[in-house]
Amino acid sequence: MMVSRSVDVVLLGPPGGGKGTQAKRLTAAFDLLHLSTGDLLREEVKRATPLGIEAQGYMQRGELVPDELVGKMLMGRLHSQQAGSGCVFDGYPRTLAQAALLDGLLAELGRRVDVALYINVPDEELLARLTGRRSCPACGAVFHVVHNPPRQEGICDACGGALVQRADDREDVIRERLRVYHESTAPLLGFYRSRGNLAEVQGVGSPDAIFEELRAAMGRLKR
Ligand code: AMP
Repeated sequence: MMVSRSVDVVLLGPPGGGKGTQAKRLTAAFDLLHLSTGDLLREEVKRATPLGIEAQGYMQRGELVPDELVGKMLMGRLHSQQAGSGCVFDGYPRTLAQAALLDGLLAELGRRVDVALYINVPDEELLARLTGRRSCPACGAVFHVVHNPPRQEGICDACGGALVQRADDREDVIRERLRVYHESTAPLLGFYRSRGNLAEVQGVGSPDAIFEELRAAMGRLKR
């Protein structure tokens, strides 16, 4: 697809639904900037910035970080030069208030959410996926102990780093994240559907097949 102007994509779906994996593929295929608020927050926590220190407790409990904190963090990135050709928003918005803020921020730049891609995965599948997820803090690669194991246990195939389990990928925290998703984030589906720019893809199956469906939905974009 030729990108003649910026394209802004919101990726919606439950935690563990494959948003991060597919966001990386979409940004590479369409030359967009990947903006994952979860990754950005984890980076702030690692660097022990004031924002990271404030966000850490919410994240450990599986709760949402307050809208205002996440909004400020996002605003800076959106105005960066790399964001000029468009973004894939991964894990943002997560509340209706965040969706309204995103509309406002994009409008200032003469842009809008062009499409909301929804990756639909049932809860029972999510729990299995999240408890087995391991990631590489050095390069961001993600594995699964059963479905996508690294060649050598505990070691990243891509860079040789030591794999870790995210602090919030423990069962009790996952249950809370799923509860929060259904309560606060699922209403966004209706929000984007009513605007006519929601595309739904079934998120069970091979990552390649799911990516092809997402790519097709991008191709159907009106511009
Ligand atoms: P994720 O990697 O997207 O699953 O995000 C991990 C955690 O970061 C979430 O459970 C929240 O605590 C926090 N977080 C990420 N994105 C947001 C957001 N848009 N609003 C509020 N909290 C967020």
